[in-house]
Amino acid sequence: MPNEIRRRGEIERKLIRNFKLMPLYDCIVVGAGPAGASAAYHLSKKGHTVLLLEKAALPRYKPCGGGVSPQVAKWFDFDFEPVISQKVTRARYTWNLGEAIEVDLQAPIWMVRRNEFDHYLVQQAQKQGARLLDQTKAMGVKFVSESGKARWQVATSGGAFEGSYLIAADGGRGPMAKWLGFGDRKASIAGAIEIEPKGTVENSHVVHFEFGLLKNGYVWNFPKRDGYSIGSGVFRTDRRKGKDLVAPMAEYASAFGVDGDAEPKFGHPVYIWNGNQRLHTQHAVLAGEAACVVDPLTAEGIRPSIFTGIKAAEAVSDAIAGNRSALAEYTDIIAEEIGHEMKLATRLAKAFYAAPHLSYRTIMQQPSATWAMARIFAGEVKYADMVQKALRRLSGGLLAKS
Ligand SMILES: Cc1cc2nc3c(=O)[nH]c(=O)nc-3n(C[C@H](O)[C@H](O)[C@H](O)COP(=O)(O)OP(=O)(O)OC[C@H]3O[C@@H](n4cnc5c(N)ncnc54)[C@H](O)[C@@H]3O)c2cc1C
Repeated sequence: MPNEIRRRGEIERKLIRNFKLMPLYDCIVVGAGPAGASAAYHLSKKGHTVLLLEKAALPRYKPCGGGVSPQVAKWFDFDFEPVISQKVTRARYTWNLGEAIEVDLQAPIWMVRRNEFDHYLVQQAQKQGARLLDQTKAMGVKFVSESGKARWQVATSGGAFEGSYLIAADGGRGPMAKWLGFGDRKASIAGAIEIEPKGTVENSHVVHFEFGLLKNGYVWNFPKRDGYSIGSGVFRTDRRKGKDLVAPMAEYASAFGVDGDAEPKFGHPVYIWNGNQRLHTQHAVLAGEAACVVDPLTAEGIRPSIFTGIKAAEAVSDAIAGNRSALAEYTDIIAEEIGHEMKLATRLAKAFYAAPHLSYRTIMQQPSATWAMARIFAGEVKYADMVQKALRRLSGGLLAKS
């Protein structure tokens, strides 16, 4: 009997053994984005029973540039090739659509379509035995502890379910954090919009950034196999109204022969890291953008979301094995592994966006800066390894000006 069928059989038997009023899953994961799918994958792989709830029908669209760090490949034992739409090997920068600076990357960066990428991750989790219910919206949660058996009840649009543990991976604007009593999370709520025009892509190995058309953020063109993701995001202030982002994005799109005004536009808030915070409560943790882990400098959210999903899965698995402090340790691990880095990224973002044109000239014209950022993005080095040098260079530029 193939392993996969045997594993599913074992999981079904475990569920039947646990069945009382309703099946008791080891863990219910709410949200099937990169964080939730990664958590479901790793928990199922360890043999736990997992219910993955997703309100949308999969595959679902998520507004996103789809730039993904190849580092994530190291965290899984399957091949991502089927959902890498493009690999870019050169970065091209402009200021107000002026003369471009081009830098060859030392290692490729992945470009993905999020509907394909996220669904693929979910399918891998399903292969490990996770049960997916898409088109099933979580409507409320309740913690019950009867005769020493603590568990969460989750009311959904498709009925009620019980799990010994809960992972809230429902994105920045999902309702779970509030329901779990986290109150106001520490986040700087930014915003971004994008269009995804289809068509022939020229120079598909080049990823484009424009820094002069938008304050406190940037405009991008991330190529895909069959088109572009062109978007604009403001990452240093509170959420901006869509109209502030549309004009720069449309102007940039026209430079690539795309009529940005005619394309459907999709906006989404971005929950940027703004300080360490408690990410656990009784038998539950926050993961992904629900835990506000987006990078304040680059707005990268996919890799940190996957990372927190994996760490959340490890914490829940340890808790199931009897480690009473496993969930508290999860909060500490994320503060240590992500918070420390994000603190440094915040310092860099403040310095960069305080005088963007000067920063652009001082930093982006140095190929070594791109290589350093690419190495951070690839997980080869940390902000901690380069932040002092970058700040010195930025402050040197400012001093030279004054
Ligand atoms: C325009 C834009 C461009 C971006 N570009 C990049 C980029 O190029 N690279 C990068 O790394 N990051 C990028 N990001 C950030 C990145 O998209 C997010 O940080 C990432 O998607 C977070 O993953 P997640 O799994 O935490 O949440 P999500 O991907 O948001 O997934 C959460 C899931 O939960 C589901 N859900 C919500 N509520 C419920 C409910 N009540 N019941 C059931 N399911 C629910 C949602 O439908 C969704 O599928 C971008 C963001 C924006 C807005």
